[in-house]
Amino acid sequence: AKAAGRNGVAVFETKMLAAAERQLTLGRDLSAALDNGELSMHLQLQVDHAGQPVGAEMLMRWRRADGTFVPPDIFIPVAETTGMIVPLGQWVLRQACLARLALEAAGHPLQLSINVSPRQFRQPEFVAQVRTAFEESGVTPHAFVFEVTEGLLVEDFDMITAKMRELAAMGIRFSIDDFGTGYSSLGYLKKMPLYELKIDKSFMRDTPHDANGTAIVQTILAMADHLGLRVVAEGIETEAQARFLAENGRPCMQGYLYCRPLPLAELVARLDRGG
Ligand code: C2E
Ligand code: CA
Ligand code: CA
Ligand code: CA
Repeated sequence: AKAAGRNGVAVFETKMLAAAERQLTLGRDLSAALDNGELSMHLQLQVDHAGQPVGAEMLMRWRRADGTFVPPDIFIPVAETTGMIVPLGQWVLRQACLARLALEAAGHPLQLSINVSPRQFRQPEFVAQVRTAFEESGVTPHAFVFEVTEGLLVEDFDMITAKMRELAAMGIRFSIDDFGTGYSSLGYLKKMPLYELKIDKSFMRDTPHDANGTAIVQTILAMADHLGLRVVAEGIETEAQARFLAENGRPCMQGYLYCRPLPLAELVARLDRGG
């Protein structure tokens, strides 16, 4: 039994090492990926209750030279750990400015949502870098929503909110991404310059057929209404979900039912055809 136990530990250690090695390789490949042009942005439409396009979320894509895709759920956490998220985030910001300019030129001035990671947001130079990106591109900051997660708000609340206020004064709007999956506290919501709450797709998955999931969605909608915040529900895949939302608060919606994340040119072509 003892030998088996030791063997179990050895297997465990081997697995840990393999996982750590994979992370290291991935981290190295990712920093090369930015230089090699393997990264791109897709955009996913957000629609209002009538199905009209109101905005789009910018989502990063990594296509390796061999043609395989690495999902963001795998590489974003690695980028967070290695710090690579800082230059990546800067790159995303520039891509968002370019996308907005292209959309304006095409006659579709959609509001663009950008995912901002906590590590990026916490950089002392973050506000200055954002300002520079907008000034260099000549795009109005009013066109952008920064999606941040509740995890950002756990530490240094005063420093974080001060930074948010500075960015909000420039015209940037803030959304709490994956709302309800983190450390929600009603207290903080009132103290922050917020524009929007985003209902995570994990809650939408159970709505409307499961009572618990549905209750969570209804609670978030009521809370947002009370606070005067816009809501985007993500992961809308079925007519039943859309119908439920039409009868409950009419939030904006994002999901495969309306639009998959698309390269900019494909999104523009779609908007040209009428959404
Ligand atoms: P997220 O911010 O919660 O983004 C929503 C995710 O849901 C996206 O996954 C999107 O493709 C997916 N999605 C949209 N509609 C549906 C649907 O109807 N059904 C289902 N099952 N999924 C749907 P994606 O693109 O794989 O991104 C995963 C996560 O990676 C994002 O989650 C976000 O946290 C992160 N991420 C993506 N791009 C960036 C980026 O540029 N910067 C940062 N910091 N994080 C990013
Ligand atoms: Ca997001
Ligand atoms: Ca997220
Ligand atoms: Ca989410």
